[in-house]
Amino acid sequence: MSSNGNAKRFDAAKEAAIREALLTERAALAKQIRALGKTSLVSSRTAGEELADVGTDDFMRDMELSVMTEEGKRLALIDTALESLDSGSYGICVDCGEAISDGRLRAKPYARLCIDCKSIREQNEGMAPEGVSDEELVE
Ligand SMILES: [Zn+2]
Repeated sequence: MSSNGNAKRFDAAKEAAIREALLTERAALAKQIRALGKTSLVSSRTAGEELADVGTDDFMRDMELSVMTEEGKRLALIDTALESLDSGSYGICVDCGEAISDGRLRAKPYARLCIDCKSIREQNEGMAPEGVSDEELVE
């Protein structure tokens, strides 16, 4: 691997540990989502065979999807974190550009906001600044 000239915040060992933590969490999430997806698939097949139960089945599927969306968003955050680890922008707050504290990154390796910006977002919940999707509020 050659350096592209970007000064990285973390050395190789620390970066590897962060990547490991992200991948572990990603695998656990993917497993959960797969389990939910399987349930959904089974129930939709049943619905095709027993049309009378479609109403109940739709309700169940909606419930599963809402859970899946939550997990899916977190999975997307983890993927973004892994990408930023590669590009060298990992650990930088997307709102203010300051470094996110080590303690916060240890607790939430996929955090994209520093603790200050996070609390500002929480106070303004539902009114995220323009250009910011609420996926960043998922934690
Ligand atoms: Zn910030």
